[in-house]
Amino acid sequence: MNLEALIPEYVRGFQAYVPSKPDHLLMREYGAPVLHRLNNNENPLGPPPAAARVIAAFPPERAAVYPSGDCHDLRQALGVRLGLVADRILVGNGSCEVISSVIKAFCQPGDNIITADKTFAVYEWVAEFSGIEARLTPLHDYAFDPQAMLDRIDRHTKILFVCNPNNPTGSSWSRQVLVDFLEQVGDDRIVVVDEAYREYVEDPDYPDTVGLMERFPNLVVFRTFSKMYGLAGLRVGYLAGTEAVVEVVRRTSVAYSVNVQAQQAALAALEDDCEHIAATRALVRQGKAMVGDACRDLGLETVGGEGNYLMIRTPINDMLMYRRLMRRGMMVRTMTGFRFPGWIRVTLREREVMERFVEALAEEVDMIRNKQGVAA
Ligand SMILES: *Cc1c(COP(=O)(O)O)cnc(C)c1O
Repeated sequence: MNLEALIPEYVRGFQAYVPSKPDHLLMREYGAPVLHRLNNNENPLGPPPAAARVIAAFPPERAAVYPSGDCHDLRQALGVRLGLVADRILVGNGSCEVISSVIKAFCQPGDNIITADKTFAVYEWVAEFSGIEARLTPLHDYAFDPQAMLDRIDRHTKILFVCNPNNPTGSSWSRQVLVDFLEQVGDDRIVVVDEAYREYVEDPDYPDTVGLMERFPNLVVFRTFSKMYGLAGLRVGYLAGTEAVVEVVRRTSVAYSVNVQAQQAALAALEDDCEHIAATRALVRQGKAMVGDACRDLGLETVGGEGNYLMIRTPINDMLMYRRLMRRGMMVRTMTGFRFPGWIRVTLREREVMERFVEALAEEVDMIRNKQGVAA
């Protein structure tokens, strides 16, 4: 069989994402008796209590029955929360699925999307394996650069993706920056603002994107239950836009892609999020201060801002640092894949884990420096 001949050129040249191995294999590989996950920006508190109860009490016979194909009840609840009719919301199997639906809905080969070079890579990947050019603009001071993005627009540009706050740098655009950008873009193309970490944001000038949709009907907002809501394992994300835009994106979305338990848990999470958000934010604030201080003491540069994560510049290659920390049961994210070689990204978690992380990091840095000192 001539498999090569079957494959579109843009798929032939595309390398599949390699997910990390399961924890039990990694623990064996690195000889680590415990493994603290600091790699995926998950919430160590898990989902809010009401969602935890729904998950624990899930009736097995319900698993035999298809879910609501369009997440009816969850969309109603999100609509009430956001002050939008439910038809302006589309729920997906994680926001990664809605990224794919939006690109399929608006782009065909020959078109392009614009985003940053150092951001969440799924926008770029989906575009590329779909035959759509991904135009990547450099960050400016570790933040999305509105002018650089505007400069790359041409008549084939369909979508601009802004990750706000940005993963991995934690930078965020204020309301004014976003409004200016939307005005400059005009209404001939879609602007997606990915707010995966919005519930962590402390900046009072952070935009109310849902409010801005009346003025900018080309604005589409992504949110997720994977981060603050602690439901990453169940895969629920959604987008909000005008009814017209959402109607188009629905055409390229797979119905029934969000499972029953995920829908029920997300609904419960939404109705019980107040204390959970406050507790998670307190924990992240504390972790950010602790790791930030420790890195300052060690003379390690950090980049962070909003969000439950911090980037740290390592004195050695990030993959080597990853291995050293893995042997101590600390799983961080290497940043070479984000085009930040020599950096790691660390999820901010509860105090006990952060203390152990800081300890492990300090010991490794000491060892590396002693060795480098001897070599020199
Ligand atoms: C984690 C994350 C998401 C969430 O993806 P899901 O598919 O909803 O789990 C989306 N965007 C960014 C920037 C993220 O970091």
